[in-house]
Amino acid sequence: MAETGANVNIKRLIDMLRLTGKKYDIEKITKAAEYAAMLHEGQYRVSGEPYISHPIAVAEIVAGLELDTNSICAALLHDTVEDCSDKTDLEEVEKLFGSEVAMLVDGLTKLVVVNVEDKEEAHIENIRKMLLAMSKDVRVIFIKLCDRLHNMRTLDVKPDPKRRSTALETMHIYAPLAHRLGIQKIKQELENLCISYLDPIGYSEIQGYIQDKYGKNVNFIENVRNSVYRKLTENGIKFTLEGRIKSVYSIYRKMYNQNKHFDEIYDFYALRIIVDTELECYTALGIIHEMFKSVPGRFKDYISTPKPNMYRSLHTTVIGRDGIPFEVQIRTWDMHHIAEYGIAAHWKYKSGEKSKEDMDKKLEWIAKLVETENAARDPDEFLDALKTDIFHDETFVFTPKGDVVALPHGATVIDFAYAIHTGVGNAMIGAKINGMIVPIDKSPSTGDIVEIITSSSSKGPSRDWLKIVKTGEARTKIRSWFKKEKRPENIAAGKAMVDAEFRKFKRPYTEAQRNEIVATVGQRTGYKSADDLYNTLGYGGIALSKVALKFKDEFDRVIAPPEPEVKSDIEVVEKIKNSVQPKNLKTGGGIIVDGERGCLVKLARCCNPLPGDSIIGFITKGYGISIHKADCPNVQNGKSNPEYAERWKEAYWESAGEGGSSSDMYEAQITVHVSDRMGIVADISMALSEMRVFLLQINTVNVGNDHIIINLKISCKNIDHYRSIVSKIKSIEGVTDVLRGFS
Ligand code: MN
Repeated sequence: MAETGANVNIKRLIDMLRLTGKKYDIEKITKAAEYAAMLHEGQYRVSGEPYISHPIAVAEIVAGLELDTNSICAALLHDTVEDCSDKTDLEEVEKLFGSEVAMLVDGLTKLVVVNVEDKEEAHIENIRKMLLAMSKDVRVIFIKLCDRLHNMRTLDVKPDPKRRSTALETMHIYAPLAHRLGIQKIKQELENLCISYLDPIGYSEIQGYIQDKYGKNVNFIENVRNSVYRKLTENGIKFTLEGRIKSVYSIYRKMYNQNKHFDEIYDFYALRIIVDTELECYTALGIIHEMFKSVPGRFKDYISTPKPNMYRSLHTTVIGRDGIPFEVQIRTWDMHHIAEYGIAAHWKYKSGEKSKEDMDKKLEWIAKLVETENAARDPDEFLDALKTDIFHDETFVFTPKGDVVALPHGATVIDFAYAIHTGVGNAMIGAKINGMIVPIDKSPSTGDIVEIITSSSSKGPSRDWLKIVKTGEARTKIRSWFKKEKRPENIAAGKAMVDAEFRKFKRPYTEAQRNEIVATVGQRTGYKSADDLYNTLGYGGIALSKVALKFKDEFDRVIAPPEPEVKSDIEVVEKIKNSVQPKNLKTGGGIIVDGERGCLVKLARCCNPLPGDSIIGFITKGYGISIHKADCPNVQNGKSNPEYAERWKEAYWESAGEGGSSSDMYEAQITVHVSDRMGIVADISMALSEMRVFLLQINTVNVGNDHIIINLKISCKNIDHYRSIVSKIKSIEGVTDVLRGFS
């Protein structure tokens, strides 16, 4: 048997329901109350009261909102499935009270709120929406608001930290929901209770002011309201009337946000008239000014001159009975909507975002029904409104941190990733829903916790994703990734960056070597090819500074430290072009011609005779004697011409086969035939350098079939020196033939 206290409580509820005169199923409600009392028996609230006092109080508030029998039953049973799981379950509730009550109780049990502290407004708005979405049936939210109101009314018995967090949650989530659903009475009471816990001193200060000043005029607004109602009806205007005494919280907000003194608050009593057209606004204003004396300077026409935030309304302050001033606001429903939901709401309507528009329209409809005079309300229509599933086309999911993200129905985890952050989407390699790994085309459901797995080595989104995603946002971001990638351009930019870096090492390298170095470094840092790393460097996916050290190491390994080892053919040729000629290079002298010393002689460029070569002189016209090798083809030709026979003179090197001083150098030409091999020019150059032979000129001709002809001009002392050079060159791998002179 339920205890005495419970019976008293149940009787009070039933009496209250009977007094309303409405058709409730008293038997069913009594049965639910007694069942709940039985289940909660032995449970107590922190205040020491039996627990059943709470669900009964909630049911009373629910009844105050004129909700139906099933809602009242659900309110009575709302804590049973969760708190008395050893005695009952949803199935049992369904068996006893039907599927609708079970559905409402289930909705109430599942409704959870995450911690709202430190959350941004956008996230809080998503939490509110998620609560609506999770409710499926708006009655769940209505009952939940009643539950919360009773908890707030009895919050003072809870420890302080709990009070604060509950008050914050209520302020940010439940009071705005009550407001959106048009339950102004609950909204106001919730806000006042919140502020009394969040700022008790500020709260009691304002309460004191109110008591002092207006405490005696409790019925004032009711009387004014009634007379205005009568007058407007007489004038045939269709209108909705809202009368209010400014709540402690609204005064609090005005005093603290606008830094006003209590005496400066003129709209303590206020009346709001909502009509259909702009013209009716002015008609209603005329009626009000006829009925009451207006306060000069307090009339404001925000219809013809809207506030910067698009707020539009007519405001006037008039003096009522007993000289009490009160404010009257007159506006159309459109203006009212913007005033209530702000610019964002207005923008939403214009942009025609269908799902959100739907939601606001439904909420607005519910709110209107709630706000309508009780007598005029059609109970069936009201119930139908509450049975709506507002968010049939939106899904609300949690991030692992507890933020709520709104997605269109059917959106995938990829859409979620891009909704979180572009970078998260681009680096996504997988996803978890409620801790389980899921395929990337999986659509989460409302209330799921979605976690995106990312990897820094991700190669970015796949083109297939474009076919999977549901949101325009994700599609745009994926496309822009591919656009941004612009691989060829990025690769070119990356190469330029690497070149700039390599130039710092002040050592020549070939393009092939650079690519080799980048490929090796790339492989060590997770890039398949050199181009992949160039590309990533190019679009800024990785900072060059992150791989600079690795580049340096690899560069040192590939491009061996400088002199004498020179590996690049191009480099050798370049170097020789820029090299200085030896100062002691002889172009003549040290030769006896026709038995005479000290003749003006010049070594012929065609054959470059060396000391030790058999030579012959030819007397030129005005340029002295030109010295040729005896076997020079020009000599053979020249001698056959009888015209020049006189001019050929015998010639000898002065010092027996050695020519001038030992430091004198002579130019020699060598033709080297080689088979094409990387670095062969460098090898030849190195061999010469080791022999301290100057390379004066080098030309390479690729004659095809892997055959290269290299023409070398070198400096050497004499024919013996020349021969030793030739034999050295012949010993180099790939050299097939070495010939004197140029061919
Ligand atoms: Mn409760």
